[in-house]
Amino acid sequence: MGSEMVYCSLVGRLYHPYDTIVEINNKLRIGGQEKIVVIGGPCSVENQEDLSELAIDIKKYGGQCLRGGAYKPRTSPYSFQGLGKLGLDYLTCAKYKSGLPIISEIVSEKELYDFAEKIDVIQVGARNMYNYELLKFLGKIDKPILLKRGLSATVEEWLMSAEYILKGGNDKVILCERGIRTFETYTRNTLDLSAIPIVKNLSHLPVVVDPSHGTGRVELIESMSMAAIAAGADGIMLEVHKDPNNAVSDGEQSLTPKRFKEVVNSIRRIANVMGR
Ligand code: PEP
Ligand code: MN
Repeated sequence: MGSEMVYCSLVGRLYHPYDTIVEINNKLRIGGQEKIVVIGGPCSVENQEDLSELAIDIKKYGGQCLRGGAYKPRTSPYSFQGLGKLGLDYLTCAKYKSGLPIISEIVSEKELYDFAEKIDVIQVGARNMYNYELLKFLGKIDKPILLKRGLSATVEEWLMSAEYILKGGNDKVILCERGIRTFETYTRNTLDLSAIPIVKNLSHLPVVVDPSHGTGRVELIESMSMAAIAAGADGIMLEVHKDPNNAVSDGEQSLTPKRFKEVVNSIRRIANVMGR
């Protein structure tokens, strides 16, 4: 399949030359020339108190959306699998305490009703980018979807997964570059920043970058976030934890709230230069 196929599809620029702007809760707009959106939060939702406290810090330090995994697709079945439905309730509580919209990952259509009711942006994780049946279900609802790039997905495969959602009637899709698997082992994944201008050329959909999973290393987050904005990303998604050393998942790539604040300031400096 050539990129011309993508270009002529619903996700492509041929029949939709203008940038799509996805609205979240009628207040946050992402895409086009809108301001950069910063999403922050823990890898996994752990408990209600910490999540609400963190959400308030994230808002105070310039984040505009709270992330948190309640259903966790882990490599090992013995690793923490998430709080499930309870996690969605904790997110809802943090939403009302902080005023931030919430984003969380769905792993199967069984939870679709709960997600549609409680969550503002439904995340499809890298492991489910190829789950076409799930994508078809998400095409039938009226809710923004954050579609992560698969671990070994080409840009075309990623965009054709987005096509499944648009084809179903839901055009509120935000793409998320989160690194791909290469021979390099220093980083958890190789963050493919070239995917940003490639996707922007082929597609009208907004693109967010996740340097937390993209690098797996906290010391690389600031520079990669700045580079992503300079390359044209519409937003950045960052893992944040008040005590990364004791996080139940992905502590090694999680920023403390204080570090999050500094990274957000650096992101905003580059965004200013970019006129956003
Ligand atoms: C996540 O965002 O917590 C996550 C599991 O990411 P990915 O699907 O990109 O690995
Ligand atoms: Mn994570």
